[in-house]
Formats: sequence, C-alpha cells, structure tokens
Amino acid sequence: MYFNDFQISDLIKRAIKDMGFEEPSPIQEKAIPVILEGGDVVGQAQTGTGKTAAFGIPIVDKVTADRYVQALILTPTRELAIQVSGELQKLSAYKNIRTLPIYGGQSIGHQIRALKQGVQVAIGTPGRILDHLRRQTLKLDQVHTVVLDEADEMLDMGFVDDIEAILRQVNNERQTLLFSATMPPAIKKLSRKYMNSPKTVSI
Ligand code: AMP
Repeated sequence: MYFNDFQISDLIKRAIKDMGFEEPSPIQEKAIPVILEGGDVVGQAQTGTGKTAAFGIPIVDKVTADRYVQALILTPTRELAIQVSGELQKLSAYKNIRTLPIYGGQSIGHQIRALKQGVQVAIGTPGRILDHLRRQTLKLDQVHTVVLDEADEMLDMGFVDDIEAILRQVNNERQTLLFSATMPPAIKKLSRKYMNSPKTVSI
C-alpha cells in the first residue's frame, strides 16, 4: 500500500513525501481509511509506530484555513504536545493552517495571544486546555475531531475528570479518536461513554 492509495489531498501527499515517508506504517494503513470515512476509532499502538501521522494525516486533510479551532488533540505531557504539533505542522506545510501546543508551565498570556492569531488545530494537556475553556480564551464549538493521544498515560496521570469535562464541551456530532498502548478497563469505559460505535484497530 502507498500513501497515494488514500483519498487525501495532493497537498498532504506532497508534504508526506518531503518528510521522507515512503509507505504507510501498519497502524497508518489500518487506521487512516477508517478515520477518513468519518467513524470513531480506538487505535492500539505504541509510540514509534507512526500513530501521530495515523490521526494527523486525516486531520490536516480535513481542516480548512478558517480561523477557528477545528481539531483538538489531548496529550498527557507538554513534550508530546510539542512533538505532535510539530509533526502536524509539517504535514500541513502546503496548507494555510496553524497548530498550537498548549500546556501548563508556559505563560498563559503567550498562549492567549497565539490563539487570537487564529489556530486550526490545538494540541494540549487536559489541565491547561480546561483553564483556557474556563477563561473562554479557547472555543471548541467548531471542533469536528477530538483525539485522546496516549489515553492510558492520561488516565494514569489522573486526568480523567478533566478529559470528561472537555469532551462534554464538544459537539456530539464530533469524530472521536482514541490512541493508547494498553486497553485497561478505564479506557474501555471512557470509549463506551464518549465514543460512537468505535472501530478498533490494533497492530
Ligand atoms: P510516532 O509513533 O507517531 O511517534 O512516530 C515515530 C516516528 O516515525 C516519527 O519520527 C515519525 O515522523 C516517523 N514516521 C511516521 N510515519 C512514518 C512512515 N510512514 N514512514 C517513515 N517514518 C514515519
């Protein structure tokens, strides 16, 4: 299978080529077609398998240059938020899209200014995202895709209440994608409660 087999824009294919990816990794081959169809997906994959591009490619394909947040990605750590933001920025090199990592420990004023410039994809840790929602400096009413990245790690870090509070603020018509290396009962519970007949893909 090749990236050309996916129903995605040529602009994304060109960016993928620039990144040096020659063919889809197994998680990408399985998850990307299902995500492109619009359904919810639970992906069981470790770091290093190409899981970021598995959800990142369909997201950057769908997002438009309209100046509001259209996709929200929750990550357990600041480092992962920065890494995911960087990878999505590269995947959208030929589109006019801004991605922004949003995490605790960085000046909130800096993040508020960046959000005001117009961000299409927000990637952040649950506590700081919730902080922006309470201050109304981040609006999620136009979000069509939510990703819970490294969901098992987020639950281990005690973010479950924050995650649920955030998910309750996003339109129910959204597409929800959950990636996790392990599938403990708490993850299954979260997916039953907040996802719509998800398909499971694992590698
Ligand atoms: P991840 O599992 O998302 O952390 O990705 C691990 C590394 O693999 C990152 O440096 C990606 O840029 C890279 N990568 C992702 N997909 C591919 C691919 N299809 N071919 C080659 N490298 C890839």
